[in-house]
Amino acid sequence: MTQTVLLLPGDGIGPEVVWQARRVLEAVDARHDLDLQFTEGDIGGIAVERSGQAYPAATRALANEADAILLGAVGGPQWDDLPAQERPERGLLAIRADLDLFCNLRPALLFPDLIGASSLRAELVSGLDVLIVRELTGGIYFGEPRGVVTREDGIREGFNTDRYDEVEIRRIGRLAFEAAQKRSGRLCSVDKANVLEVTMLWREVMEALSSEYPDVTLSHMYVDNAAMQLVRDPNQFDVLVTGNLFGDILSDIAAMLTGSIGMLPSASLNAQGTGLYEPVHGSAPDIAGDDSANPLATILSAAMLLRFSLDAPEAANEIESAVAVVLEAGFRTADIAERHSPASLIGTQAMGDAVIAALTD
Ligand code: NAD
Repeated sequence: MTQTVLLLPGDGIGPEVVWQARRVLEAVDARHDLDLQFTEGDIGGIAVERSGQAYPAATRALANEADAILLGAVGGPQWDDLPAQERPERGLLAIRADLDLFCNLRPALLFPDLIGASSLRAELVSGLDVLIVRELTGGIYFGEPRGVVTREDGIREGFNTDRYDEVEIRRIGRLAFEAAQKRSGRLCSVDKANVLEVTMLWREVMEALSSEYPDVTLSHMYVDNAAMQLVRDPNQFDVLVTGNLFGDILSDIAAMLTGSIGMLPSASLNAQGTGLYEPVHGSAPDIAGDDSANPLATILSAAMLLRFSLDAPEAANEIESAVAVVLEAGFRTADIAERHSPASLIGTQAMGDAVIAALTD
């Protein structure tokens, strides 16, 4: 049966890295008879230029038909002066809300050959394998009321609202408990329950859920401590679950522990298993068009797409193994090259070639 993958390359390095991931998907398709069919749409700045909207109706129609979506990145300095509602980044928020992609999975996995590229000492990060489960469609990024108003005293005031209801907390909680069950059975819920009422409810709901998962050990941690612990002793964590804002920040901290933001994939899922897969990094306008971007985060996102949306775990494993082989062989894009290492420095296209070659070894 044909499985449709919608490609949304977006802006900056997005098209370069998505192109490499597509080539890798085509290569595993040929080996595993996955019968993939690719469609392509606009999102972000390119969509603003072509149709005046960051998430146009045509893209929306394709997204609602697709079995899975692979996105590059959106945004760039040329759109920074647009009003908030018209900026490319709105396209991302819109597609997440449209498809109800409430669960964001961000693995932070350190490949042994990249240990020297981590921002922490090798003994602290050796064996690092943390999964951050971030709620993606609620919290302060979506809460109303929001805005900037001029008060009666003439002073301008900006405000946002952090808001979660118990149904939203419970559904992300369940996926996090289930993820912990499939791993080492440890789940840490991150909140700020000493100050924020919304996270007091979060903690209460997580605690109530834990009785349904007796094989998972639940702990709680305040977000400031969690940020500190991630850089002090990251291996104490297995699965972390948290809200939208805290998850955004903690997953970027975890990114640095793995050596480069260019290595980190992510998956955003809805209740039906449709997923949007994208690298954690942005559009990197500073290196766009240089053939120097690291495509591995997008290639690893494609592996997650095969595993979570297309039920092709063997093909996913094959891609992940190929990435490990390429790193072991010493191939590096600039972002993960150690200053004095003998590694072969290669570009975006050559990294795609190397992964494809490793698939067929
Ligand atoms: P960024 O992730 O684009 O770049 C941060 C730094 O990391 C830059 O030095 C960049 O060159 C480098 N980098 C990022 N990805 C890389 C890769 N694959 N290979 C090698 N180096 C890489 O973040 P930023 O500079 O804060 O934002 C740039 C633009 O991207 C902004 O317009 C921002 O709004 C947008 N953005 C989009 C997303 C997304 O689409 N999900 C996420 C974050 C930022």
